[in-house]
Amino acid sequence: MDTIYYEAYGNLYLNLTNRCTANCIFCVRNFSKGAYGYDLTLSNEPSADELIEVLGKLDLSKYREIVFTGFGEPTLRFDTVLEVIRWLKARPGKIKVRLDTNGHAALINPERAVARELRNVGLDAVSVSLNAESEEIYNKLCKPEYENAYQAVLDFIGAVRKAGVPVRVTVVKLPEIDIEKCRKIAEKLGAEFFVRKFSETAREG
Ligand code: SF4
Repeated sequence: MDTIYYEAYGNLYLNLTNRCTANCIFCVRNFSKGAYGYDLTLSNEPSADELIEVLGKLDLSKYREIVFTGFGEPTLRFDTVLEVIRWLKARPGKIKVRLDTNGHAALINPERAVARELRNVGLDAVSVSLNAESEEIYNKLCKPEYENAYQAVLDFIGAVRKAGVPVRVTVVKLPEIDIEKCRKIAEKLGAEFFVRKFSETAREG
């Protein structure tokens, strides 16, 4: 049976897809079938109904956060993400919901107001992988499908902040990345900043 949710760090992670619009050289998918001891290979992407059914059987109050992640990019399943957030936020108690993303949501879903839609369903926080201080380095390290991906990631961070949702910008600690320049970019965008160790790049870097 596929692992569509798993626990780590006191959080519950939802594994929505194995697809991604990048191909980062440091992606754990290049080295492993999963993370935290879980095989995250999906034979089928779970529907919103399947996710809601399994979530309905869990005690969600015991988790710090419910995190949309995946062994891939969750905003490739944008409508599923929105539907499950809506359901989670309608539960009793204060369930905190976070999206971990490569920041390509607006490129993947060009007809949508992605940041506003995420805010409107009640998303509490977003963590965006930046991983580079320039487009050149981003393209080299993350190999995005889209030509203008780096600028789109910056725009997505800005749009989410403007929508009023707290954003954390992350980078992986690699010699190719100028951490301090990335930190300044995050500060300028009004986002928190977090440096991941290479071994902690469980999915989205
Ligand atoms: S690290 Fe994240 S953004 Fe990069 S290829 Fe892997 S899943 Fe995609």
